[in-house]
Amino acid sequence: MSLTTIAVNQLSKTFGHHPVLQEIGFEIRQGERVALIGPSGSGKSTLMRHLVGLTRANRHRSCCVHVLGRDIQRAGKLVSASRVERCRTGYIFQQFNLAGRLSVLTNVLVGRLGRMPRWRALLGRFSAEERAMALRALQRVGLAELADQRANTLSGGQMQRVAIARALMQEAELILADEPIASLDPRSAREVMDILKRINEEDGRTVVITLHQVEYAREYCQRAIALKQGRLYYDGPIAQLTDVRLRALYDNAGLDEL
Ligand code: ADP
Ligand code: MG
Repeated sequence: MSLTTIAVNQLSKTFGHHPVLQEIGFEIRQGERVALIGPSGSGKSTLMRHLVGLTRANRHRSCCVHVLGRDIQRAGKLVSASRVERCRTGYIFQQFNLAGRLSVLTNVLVGRLGRMPRWRALLGRFSAEERAMALRALQRVGLAELADQRANTLSGGQMQRVAIARALMQEAELILADEPIASLDPRSAREVMDILKRINEEDGRTVVITLHQVEYAREYCQRAIALKQGRLYYDGPIAQLTDVRLRALYDNAGLDEL
């Protein structure tokens, strides 16, 4: 029997008077690969930010956001995590958040800081084993030969692969990727999606990817969770998400524009 990695119940979020998430509930089991889809402004990023504890939910008695065995939003109160617990979730942003002036290898090593003794993390002193591990992570994303380059010399697709290598270095069991391919050309997008698929299938890491291009969701994920205006619109096999339902989800916008 597989374990529950994420369990969300009665999650609501209001910014001012604007309800952005309304009574969201779903479960994701360990090892699943799920696409989170929906039109722009439907609340996907806000939901992702709740899953890593960057945003606090509305106070509600039954609100819970269980991630990797911990309720991180107990009734709308953020519960802080230890350094090691934080490493268990890898977060990948659309805008590549790398330290541009540092080398590619150092950017990957940064993923290890939370798992190192605090004094060594403060000094930024990495062991030979940690360096070897970082090189292996770079090999896995096909960038070992760029280890010594500055991160800001890379293309967008390469930067995103470095961010994935950093998550591997964290030994993240759960990867949350918010629009990881939105600013990439189709070829780089495919490379990034291939790697996310591989680390899900080969390592059994749970992967949740926000995508606004439905065709990538169809090709790379089995399950889709769709948000529309902050509400859960669909949760199920992506194959059963028909064109009619997709058109309704995107309010009849031309599907090729999504
Ligand atoms: P998506 O990622 O699906 O495009 P978002 O989660 O970014 O949607 O945004 C959902 C809605 O919440 C939008 O209307 C956005 O303007 C609003 N929103 C997001 N973050 C904030 C914030 N910090 N303050 C106020 N409104 C916000
Ligand atoms: Mg977003």
